[in-house]
Amino acid sequence: KVVCVTGASGFIASWLVKLLLQRGYIVKATVRDPNDQKKTEHLRSFDGAKERLHLFKADLLEEGSFDPVIDGCECVFHTASPVLLSVTDPQAELIDPALKGTLNVLKSCANVPSVKRVVITSSIVTVLCNGKPLSPDVTVDETWFSDSAFCERSKLWYAVSKILAEEAAWKFAKENVIDMVTLHPGLVIGPLLRPTVNTSMEPLLNLVNGTETFPNVARRWVDVRDVANAHILAYENPSASGRYCIVGRVLHCSEVVKILQDIFPALKVPKKCADDEPLAKTYRVSKERVNILGLNFTPLEISLKDTVESLKETNLI
Ligand code: NDP
Repeated sequence: KVVCVTGASGFIASWLVKLLLQRGYIVKATVRDPNDQKKTEHLRSFDGAKERLHLFKADLLEEGSFDPVIDGCECVFHTASPVLLSVTDPQAELIDPALKGTLNVLKSCANVPSVKRVVITSSIVTVLCNGKPLSPDVTVDETWFSDSAFCERSKLWYAVSKILAEEAAWKFAKENVIDMVTLHPGLVIGPLLRPTVNTSMEPLLNLVNGTETFPNVARRWVDVRDVANAHILAYENPSASGRYCIVGRVLHCSEVVKILQDIFPALKVPKKCADDEPLAKTYRVSKERVNILGLNFTPLEISLKDTVESLKETNLI
């Protein structure tokens, strides 16, 4: 079976490509520059890549650039989207590629009979950024929707880009009868497949390097291998539909520091986060729907251990 992965050089997408090849799929993968060795050589080294991985050049902002890739694919995994937390021009750097890019990919999928399902990597930020109070008695689930105006007022531009992209995607999918599933991961960590860290790994890298401490906020941790697996389950399970939250555990930074110090006593992990007292309460994110899909989460202790070992192996710490 032939499938497509957009933004294949990314942190999550690289794991997705690796697992898809392991499962015997033929993978048509898009990258912005197939000749960029730094971003593609790890993909070419995966088991099965020589026989079954095909790299294509495609850009989110170029209309029609996904047409030749998607033709013949049974599933399209759309993961490409900029993940940037500080920008000077939010419209150009985040919103346009997320929103126009998602619509470009969906337009290429519409009316291609081979495409049976589209799986979109959305984010938990399209679920819970709406000002509703979060506390230990609250369980966030897929019926929650973020409010783009609320995020704009708070200048949460990455969230705005993902919210607008998801809203437009559902509208387009309905109008064009596309079978679509959206996945909503939290903060993704895990072993690296190429020796560079993406935006979501930066806080952890800086934490274990001891170069930065953080406000003691609650973060929504999830392992990259679980996120990649969820994509495959969302495609292979015919009954999958709608939205799926993918968050392993909501935990304060100070608790993560404790776990890291237990596993790696020699690490320069700061003794505490910037604030001793947790700044915000924890809450729960429902795992019910994604558990039914068949996803079991990797314990955070294992994710942290594997992540730090991988950072050591790649000489990043
Ligand atoms: P990465 O930064 O590792 O990957 C992002 C990918 O998007 C890269 O392959 C990048 O290509 C591609 N991309 C960016 N802009 C364009 C463009 N204009 N045209 C084509 N491709 C483009 O991020 P992640 O793996 O972390 O994120 C992947 C997806 O998961 C994103 O949709 C993100 O919003 C979502 N997500 C991530 C979370 C996280 O914690 N990491 C949490 C929730 C959701 P290039 O390599 O050429 O720059």
